[in-house]
Amino acid sequence: MAHDALIIGGGHNGLTCACYLANAGLKVRVLEKRAIVGGAAVTEEFHPGFRNSVASYTVSLLHPHVIQDLHLAEHGLRMVLRPMSNFLPLDNGDALRVGPALADTVAELRRFSPRDAARLPDYYAMLDRLADELRQWVLRTPPDPNGGPRAMLELFKAGRELRKLGPAAQRDLLELFGRSAGEVLDDWFESDPIKAALGFDSVVGAWASPYAPGSAYVQLHHCFGEVNGRKGAWGHAIGGMGAITQAMAKEAARLGVEISTESPVARVKLAGGRAIGVVLENGDELEAKLVAANVGPKLLFLHMLEAAQLEPEFRTRIERFKTGSGVLRMNVALSELPDFCGLGKQVQTHHGAGIIMAPSLAYMDRAWRDASDVQGSGMSRQPIVEMLIPSTLDDTLAPKGQHVASLFCQQFAPHPPGGKSWDEMREAAADLVISTVEGYAPGFSKSVIARQVLTPLDLERTFGLTDGDIFHGRLSLEQLFSSRPLLGHADYRTPLKGLYLCGAGTHPGGGVTGAPGHNAAREILRDWKAKKLV
Ligand SMILES: Cc1cc2nc3c(=O)[nH]c(=O)nc-3n(C[C@H](O)[C@H](O)[C@H](O)COP(=O)(O)OP(=O)(O)OC[C@H]3O[C@@H](n4cnc5c(N)ncnc54)[C@H](O)[C@@H]3O)c2cc1C
Repeated sequence: MAHDALIIGGGHNGLTCACYLANAGLKVRVLEKRAIVGGAAVTEEFHPGFRNSVASYTVSLLHPHVIQDLHLAEHGLRMVLRPMSNFLPLDNGDALRVGPALADTVAELRRFSPRDAARLPDYYAMLDRLADELRQWVLRTPPDPNGGPRAMLELFKAGRELRKLGPAAQRDLLELFGRSAGEVLDDWFESDPIKAALGFDSVVGAWASPYAPGSAYVQLHHCFGEVNGRKGAWGHAIGGMGAITQAMAKEAARLGVEISTESPVARVKLAGGRAIGVVLENGDELEAKLVAANVGPKLLFLHMLEAAQLEPEFRTRIERFKTGSGVLRMNVALSELPDFCGLGKQVQTHHGAGIIMAPSLAYMDRAWRDASDVQGSGMSRQPIVEMLIPSTLDDTLAPKGQHVASLFCQQFAPHPPGGKSWDEMREAAADLVISTVEGYAPGFSKSVIARQVLTPLDLERTFGLTDGDIFHGRLSLEQLFSSRPLLGHADYRTPLKGLYLCGAGTHPGGGVTGAPGHNAAREILRDWKAKKLV
């Protein structure tokens, strides 16, 4: 047997898992269906001379331990902070600027609502306290409430940590898990722009209104990261998100991991109820002592295994696992920078911000209602668009004087109603996004030299993201923590011996964190050392 471990998928979590396993002495091979590794965190040339992060486009959640353990800085990874966190152009020609520091936002918010400006520090303090609590759990294996003594001990520790939070923070946590972001923000603030700026994260990849119960958690999920030691900040990886995964691939190569691209896996090979390898789409059969799947739970269990190989109850629950983000992703090559609010086309601080085109929670709610209307087209009439122009921070992406922008757009139904396909609607959807931006930055459409459009269907086809789900599965309470992907199966093991999950469909979920890969490797090595695999 040439390898101890086969990893299905070379996304950032597959690479992270591979590195930790190889570092512990295992012979590891990564099997990636695409021509490059990195999964949703890749940089590619989409028009001659113009490169950009193709899917995932901004960094914060990548765990400092993973950066350190995988020597990503030594392999050339460099991250920079945004000069301003967010910029919200408004319908009246004004704009709200958020960050870079809290004092900047407070000063800016006074123009809109002195009351909100006074409340903002307390709101951030509440979020920070809860994000700190979540942060402690990111690199831990969620306990199984029906598990053995170790799980009981972990549950006890969790209870103790919750107790330490105190009643006020416990109530806040409960609210953020159960309530909608809209409700929470309406309670705190009165001004639409600040609610929109803060509420944007709650709809990211969620295929939901900001008034959907549970959406407040999605917002919190985006807060537990950090960039260069600044908690909660978002930044840019020089060279795009692919710089992260290329650095991971270098570490994997250093550790002797064999990486095979253009090697799509068709199914997992079982013998005696345990995983013994995989069959590639070209028919090649590979054997190993264990298999770890970086692909999402639905892809693994419903497409890479026969129905009869799983307990019916388990399979049915996986069928019910909710997927579908409702996002459309575009990259555009630009001849010049957009002119927002008449501020001009020369590079300014706001060009380096996350530019959110969705001025209120009501706008975001309407976007969701439009797109989810079964009588509608599957698209919002006025979509929510976030634009990042990474070439203002990074001269490796576009020819001098020209730019690339990432457009992250919602809501676009995972499956359009009435049996229509995104193949028929792709260009209309892209035109809609361009005209939405044009509304905030007149002249934008003329500056577009080329565009790359990824509908939910394209995200599924290109990256294997089921229903175009950017997180491998919805981030809702019943699919988080000890229930990700299913209650009783959140410890990275599957019901089949020798088969593990190591991707975003496991705790702590989606985002470029490296945490699922890190945690899965720890559990695999636990079994390896206990000789539970032989
Ligand atoms: C459009 C978009 C925007 C996003 N924006 C951000 C962002 O700005 N910041 C952030 O932190 N997160 C963002 N995310 C989320 C984040 O990128 C993902 O949650 C994360 O990349 C998941 O990593 P992963 O390694 O678990 O899985 P993936 O990145 O999905 O990797 C899985 C790998 O498996 C491969 N694969 C699939 N099928 C097969 C097969 N049959 N055989 C072999 N290999 C296979 C895929 O090609 C892929 O390389 C975004 C995601 C998307 C799609």
